[in-house]
Amino acid sequence: MLLDSNGWFDGIRHCPSPNFNARPSAEISLLVIHNISLPPGQFGTGQVQALFENRLDPTAHPYFAGIADLRVSAHFLIERDGGIVQFVSCRDRAWHAGQSCFEGRENCNDFSLGIELEGTDTLPYSDAQYTALIGLSRRLLRAYPAIGANRIRGHSDIAPGRKTDPGPAFDWPRLLEGLRERGEPS
Ligand SMILES: [Zn+2]
Repeated sequence: MLLDSNGWFDGIRHCPSPNFNARPSAEISLLVIHNISLPPGQFGTGQVQALFENRLDPTAHPYFAGIADLRVSAHFLIERDGGIVQFVSCRDRAWHAGQSCFEGRENCNDFSLGIELEGTDTLPYSDAQYTALIGLSRRLLRAYPAIGANRIRGHSDIAPGRKTDPGPAFDWPRLLEGLRERGEPS
């Protein structure tokens, strides 16, 4: 898994999303962790990919009617089996954070990368997801040293009162301990 000069990792699935634009500056200094599942609580449906590619069928499920017109994306999705999908180049601005603020600075999409974990706020994430998240995060922090392990936040941290993900199910110490391990990312 290597990051190429265009901001895409090799060795993972690419599902390019049209929902991105240019960053106002090249700075990338924040990593945002999210969760998503479509329909909520159902996994492996392929519908997250459909949402990020603007092809979600609003009639396929009652929940979809309210979100099918959203224009959203994240750089990465980590599925329950640990599979990683990339939707947007790291160099570009994905549309994952919405109205948000980090250390007094608004519009976190401008300077962040977004990782979605397939899941819910309350169901434990899988071991495979932690392994994949730690490996991906280590590579991202190495490629973008301005992020730093102290600049990883949940969506709920940068949009409090509006967002709750990744929720109490997310084991922050497990991620941060994984980032402290020595050696090359597995
Ligand atoms: Zn989120």
